[in-house]
Amino acid sequence: MTWKTHMVLGAIAGYCAYPSWKGSVIGATMALVPDIDQANSKLGNLMGPLSKMLQKGFGHRTVTHSWVILFLPFLLFGDSLAAMAALWGILSHLVSDMLVGRIQLLWPLRVGWLGIPVSKSMYRTVDRIVFYVAIVYIVIKGYQ
Ligand SMILES: [Zn+2]
Repeated sequence: MTWKTHMVLGAIAGYCAYPSWKGSVIGATMALVPDIDQANSKLGNLMGPLSKMLQKGFGHRTVTHSWVILFLPFLLFGDSLAAMAALWGILSHLVSDMLVGRIQLLWPLRVGWLGIPVSKSMYRTVDRIVFYVAIVYIVIKGYQ
C-alpha cells in the first residue's frame, strides 16, 4: 500500500485501540514505521542512513514487516493505551501489505513469506479502493 493508505488505516486502527485523537495520531504515525526498510518511502526519506542500511542488510518487507516489529510499541510506550494504538497501527500496515504482496512475517525463516502477490495495476487498484473506503468510513464515523 502507499503511505497515504497506511496512514489512513493506521488512524482507524489506532482509534479502535485508543479511542481518542491521540490514538489516531499514534496509529497513523506507527503505520509508516515498517516501511523504514525502503529508502524511498516517506519515513525512509527522513531516516536516511538507517533506512538504507536496513534495505541493504535485510531487504524490503523482511525484518520490519515481521513479528520483531511488534515489540516496538511496548519499547516506546510501555504497557499503555498508546502502545496498543501503536501496535494496531503497525498491524494495519502488515495486514494491508499482505493484501497486495507478501511479507516475511516469520523472519528470519524463509518459509514465513505470507500474503497475496498481485500485479502492479492490481496493487494500485486495491490501494485506491482501500484508501477511499477508509476515508468514507472515517467521515461516516465522524458524523456519528
Ligand atoms: Zn510495508
